[in-house]
Amino acid sequence: MIAGLLYHPDVGLVLFDTGFREDVINSWEGEYLECAPRIWVKDIHSLPVAIKATGAGEIGDVKAVVLSHLHLDHAGGLEHFFGTDVEIWCHEDELKGAFWASATGNDSNLFLPDYLRADLLNWKTVSEEKVELWKGLTLHRCRGHTEGSLVVELTFSASGTVILTGDLFHVRENYEDGQPQGFLMRNYNEWLRSRDYIRRLVKRTNARVCLGHERSYFDMFEKSPQFIS
Ligand SMILES: [Zn+2]
Repeated sequence: MIAGLLYHPDVGLVLFDTGFREDVINSWEGEYLECAPRIWVKDIHSLPVAIKATGAGEIGDVKAVVLSHLHLDHAGGLEHFFGTDVEIWCHEDELKGAFWASATGNDSNLFLPDYLRADLLNWKTVSEEKVELWKGLTLHRCRGHTEGSLVVELTFSASGTVILTGDLFHVRENYEDGQPQGFLMRNYNEWLRSRDYIRRLVKRTNARVCLGHERSYFDMFEKSPQFIS
């Protein structure tokens, strides 16, 4: 999956999605490993090392985390923020749905109790359908993949409008052709409405788009360190 590290002039470093937990190969089981990387090297792939590699700072410099949704491959890395006061942002309905799913075993393979910790994380939620959380960073609630999925719209002068869709769209076929997400779809009609909404937003703002798991869209963005310099 694709995460993002943003620098906001008022907030500081903001992490968009955390990736899965450390050592995913030994912590996932069965068919889910089919979706996981086959190589995981701590000195290269762990979240703290990945953040440091951007040149923007250390994981301890991250001031806030914004989560598109709480599936284990996007929120498992919350384990790095246990016991800190780093703000962990998501939609209220996502938080409720994820805790319910994890506690009851409904969708238990996608929402895990090991990172959904009420006692160790500084949870913050939005309840709006659309809200500018910080200047230039707007959240759009988009149902379909999960109940409280958020799409992030960035409007900074240096980058133009950038839209981070999370798993509203895993791959380009979801976004471009409207192909549904198979067993990962939770509400097809809502997903179609969300897809129309985001496609209109992209067109209206002439935005560049980053999809949840699509390498080719990610590759269209500038690469560090050239972008930073
Ligand atoms: Zn997901």
